[in-house]
Order: sequence, then structure tokens, then C-alpha cells
Amino acid sequence: MKLKRAHQQVAELLLDAETVVAFTGAGISTESSIPDFRSPGGIWDRFDPDDFTIERFYQDPKKYWEKRLELHRAFRFEEAQPNPAHHAVADLERMGKLNMVITQNIDGLHQAAGNSEARVIELHGNVREVKCMVCEARYPRESVWEEVERGDLPPRCERCGGVMKLATVSFGELLPADALRRAEQAARTCDLFMVVGSSLGVEPAASLPRNAKWHGAKLMIINLEPTPLDRVADIVIHEKAGACLTEILSRLT
Ligand code: NAD
Repeated sequence: MKLKRAHQQVAELLLDAETVVAFTGAGISTESSIPDFRSPGGIWDRFDPDDFTIERFYQDPKKYWEKRLELHRAFRFEEAQPNPAHHAVADLERMGKLNMVITQNIDGLHQAAGNSEARVIELHGNVREVKCMVCEARYPRESVWEEVERGDLPPRCERCGGVMKLATVSFGELLPADALRRAEQAARTCDLFMVVGSSLGVEPAASLPRNAKWHGAKLMIINLEPTPLDRVADIVIHEKAGACLTEILSRLT
């Protein structure tokens, strides 16, 4: 009953809001079989976060690529498909009810569900591309994947010969400045900021909901577990994102 009331309240906020931002994290993709970092069975149960820092990459790029390949083989990112939560977020855009998706995810599932490129800000990069760490040229990941799987590592830039890395943001690496600037602008100017599937434990991304609230937006959090911002949020729902967003969307039509 309490849950139904919360769904109804969110639906009403969505109907009233003029500028809506969705802020998503690894939790929106667990129902697509991509584990998050910190939940039981998550990525950090099988991998060491220290192997994914930018320092490690510069120390030993070959080892970085071997670890990335191991991670890809363990979790099969390429086979993941959008789940009902991604579809609900895409439906919000189709209904004209969503201005921007800011995602910490690197899996590209928002675009796969139908959100337009222009309305998705990838704060932590993506796994669709590789980038040259010298001249910053970018290439589709497929263009180097065969050599990566053969163990011909690290892949080199065909333009300058520089060492390449996946176009994801490693721990200790700066966030893409343009993405961060656009995300901050969206957070400052929206009137409803919806967090979906994030522990809100990673900075600077987690400061965005705080900024949105500070600038007057309503803050809504859908996450299985409590987050540090639950006590300042206007609505908090501890439920799976797929069922929750589907239920909320059904109240909009
Ligand atoms: P996180 O692992 O810190 O937190 C995920 C949260 O989602 C947890 O609090 C968990 O309770 C919740 N959750 C899990 N399944 C859920 C579901 N079905 N419905 C609702 N909530 C659910 O992840 P984060 O906050 O995104 O933070 C950190 C980092 O994780 C980011 O840097 C991101 O790049 C990276 N990451 C991304 C992917 C991906 O692209 N799919 C996967 C793993 C990690």
C-alpha cells in the first residue's frame, strides 16, 4: 500500500514537472545481468579495484587489457539487453517527459533502449570505443577487439602509434569535462531529479543530486538499498528499478 502511494506520488511529480533528469547507476543494469560493483556477487567480489586505476594502466597497459578482457568474458557486457527500467526511461523521453539521462554506466543500454544520443550524458565513458591516450583519437572497440583477444597487447593508435585504452573512465582519471559540465547544468536547472540504481557513493557524480536539490529540484531515489541522500530526498523507494518504473509509467497514460 505504502509502495503504491509512492508510485502515485512519483507519477504526479512527473506529470507536474517541466524539466526532468534521470540519473542512473549500475543498479539499473543488474536486471540486464550486468552486476554492479558493491552488491553481493558484484564485480568487486571477483576483481580487485586496484587493477582498474589509471596508475595501473600507465604502469602496465598490457596487464590492464588482460584484466579488462577477463572482466568482459566474465560478465559478457556485449550480450546485455535493455531491461524494463531502461525501456521506461526511454518511454519517458518519447512521452516528452524527460530532458536528460545522466548515467554513470558504460554499457550503452539507455541508447539501446531508444534514448537519443543527444539526451544521454555518459559521465564515465563507454565500452563502445577505445581512445588513444596520446592524441585522443577514438575508434570503435570492434576495430581492435580481434587483436586484443589474440593477446596482441596493448592496441596501438593507427594515427600516432600511442597506447590505447577503453573509452571508460578509470579510477583516478578525470571525468570528461564536457560531460560533467552538461550534467551539472542539467542538475542545476531541472525541477525533478530521479536517481535510479546508484549507491550515490562515487564522487563527483554523486554531488549532482545534491546540487539539483540545492537549486530547488524535487529529489527522488529508486534504489534497492539506502543511500546517503535518502534523508534529504522527497521520495525514496527501495524496490527493483524495473518493476518500480513500469508501475510508475503505467500511471502516466
Ligand atoms: P554501485 O555498485 O555503487 O551501486 C549500485 C546500487 O544499485 C546499489 O546500491 C544497489 O542496491 C542498487 N541496485 C542493484 N540492483 C538494483 C535494481 N535492480 N534496482 C534498483 N537498485 C538496484 O553503482 P553506482 O552507484 O553506479 O557506482 C559506481 C560505478 O559503477 C560507476 O562508476 C559505474 O561506472 C560503475 N559500473 C557500471 C556498470 C554498467 O555500466 N552497467 C556496471 C558496474 C559498475
